[in-house]
Amino acid sequence: MVEVIELQLCARTRVARISMMGEQHMLTHHVALVSEESAIPPAELMAVAAALEKQVTRDFAPIWKVPATVTAFQSLDHLPLDYWPIIIKDDIGDPSAAGYHEDQNGQPFALVQYSDGWPLTVSHELLEMLADPFGRRMVAGPSPKPGQGRVKFLVEVCDPCESEAFSYSVNDIKVSDFYTPQFFDPVTAAGVRYSFTGSIKQPRQVLRDGYLSWYDPASASWWQRTWFGGAKAADKKLALKVVGGNIRAAIDRHTEVMRAKAQKRLAAGTAPKGTVAEFAAPASLAEGAESLRAAVKSVIRRAKR
Ligand SMILES: [Zn+2]
Repeated sequence: MVEVIELQLCARTRVARISMMGEQHMLTHHVALVSEESAIPPAELMAVAAALEKQVTRDFAPIWKVPATVTAFQSLDHLPLDYWPIIIKDDIGDPSAAGYHEDQNGQPFALVQYSDGWPLTVSHELLEMLADPFGRRMVAGPSPKPGQGRVKFLVEVCDPCESEAFSYSVNDIKVSDFYTPQFFDPVTAAGVRYSFTGSIKQPRQVLRDGYLSWYDPASASWWQRTWFGGAKAADKKLALKVVGGNIRAAIDRHTEVMRAKAQKRLAAGTAPKGTVAEFAAPASLAEGAESLRAAVKSVIRRAKR
C-alpha cells in the first residue's frame, strides 16, 4: 500500500516537474525600443523600456503566458539579430504608416509616431506583438452585430481599451490596458477579469475611443465596431486589403487614418527635429540617486586605501 502511494506521488511530482521545465524552456520574445531620428533622449527611452518590461513581466505574461524582454537601443544599427523592433520616429508621414508591419522575412516590427503620449502607443504595439506576433490569430464567437451569427475576431489585445482614459501607470509612465483571454468567453460572469484594469466589463465590449475587428464568413468580409467620437459605437463593413495574410497590418493601415481623422490628430510630430529635449528625472528619485552616488564614492575611496 505504501509503495502504491509513493508511486502515485512520484508520478505526480514528475508531471509537475515536467510542466515547470516546459515553462522554463519556452522561447522568450525579445522586443527592442528604438528611437530613429527622434527627439527622445536616451534616458527617456531607457526609462520607458524598463516600465514596459515591468508591465510585461508582472501584468501581461502571467495572464497571456508569453515571456519577453524589452530593451532600449539607440539606433537600428545596434539591433541584435532576433529582436523585434518598435521604432519611434519624429514624423512617420502619413498616419497609415503607423502600427504593425512585417519585414522581408515576415518578421514583425512596429512604427510609432512621436507624440506626448508615445509610451502608451508603444505599450499597445508591444502587447499585441506578444499576444499574436504575426498579426493573424483569430478567435470565433458571436458577432457584436445583431443577426450576423458566429464570426472570427482578430486577437488585438489593446484595441477595445486603447484610450488613455483606460490606461494605468507603471513607474509613473502611462501604459495600455489590455484584454484577457476571457474577452472571448461565451457569457458574462461575475468576478471575471475581461481586461487588466477591469475597464472592460463583458466579453467583446468596445470602450470609448476603441475598436474591435472581425471577419464574417457568411459575407466573406471584414467588419469593425469603432467608437471614435460620438455618443456610441458603430458597426461598419471594411474595404480591407490583406497582403500576405497579415491582417493586423491591413487593419492598422485602415484604422489609423480613420482614427486620426476622427480625433483630428496631426500626422506630424510635436517635437522640432534635431533638438533633444532634456528628460528630467522625477524628484522622487533624487534622494535614491544621491545616496547611491555617495555609496559608490565610499566604495571607491575604501578600495583605494
Ligand atoms: Zn492595435
